[in-house]
This record gives sequence, structure tokens and C-alpha cells, in this order.
Amino acid sequence: MSDHFCDKCGEYLPEGSLKYSVQIQIISDFDGVIMCETDDPEMEAQEMLEAAEDMDEQELEDEVYQELSFVLCSRCRKRFSRDPFSHGARTYRTTKNFERMFH
Ligand SMILES: [Zn+2]
Repeated sequence: MSDHFCDKCGEYLPEGSLKYSVQIQIISDFDGVIMCETDDPEMEAQEMLEAAEDMDEQELEDEVYQELSFVLCSRCRKRFSRDPFSHGARTYRTTKNFERMFH
């Protein structure tokens, strides 16, 4: 164990203090539909492949799956869970299923 700092406000969180780990998975939600902007799907596919070749391996992986991890203090955890996108609204569903914590 070691000391941490809140990733939002920078509060010092010494060993043993109340802190929260936020794990975010960003997963590509591909629905199987590829929008064609031209009448030539083969040419469009070729352009997509060329665009992919210009990206480095990490960028390509991040386009499909990305994990982010943060440490928050108690105050920032409350604010984040109420309004993660800073919209000023409380419109987000919360999951009460604690079994998900231990997968
Ligand atoms: Zn904080």
C-alpha cells in the first residue's frame, strides 16, 4: 500500500484514508453497419484500411477497447457518481448490484 492523491482535486490521501478506485472500460459499440458515403464500397474499404495504417498500434487498440483507472477522494466520488460528465444533471442510472464488484 502507498499514499495516493485524488486524480480530480489532488487531495492527499495517505495510507488508510477513505478513497475510491474508478475503473472505466470504453468498448467499441459496433452494430455491424458500415455507412457508405460513396457508391464504391470497395474503394471506401480501401480508404479505411489506409487510414488504419496511418494509426499506430496503440491508437488502433484504443479505438476498440480502452481501460482508464482513477483514484478519487470521498467528496469527488460523490460528485463524479452524480454527474460524471459535468452536465449539472442527475440523470444517470446507478447499478446497485454489488456482485459485479467481485467478477
Ligand atoms: Zn478529490
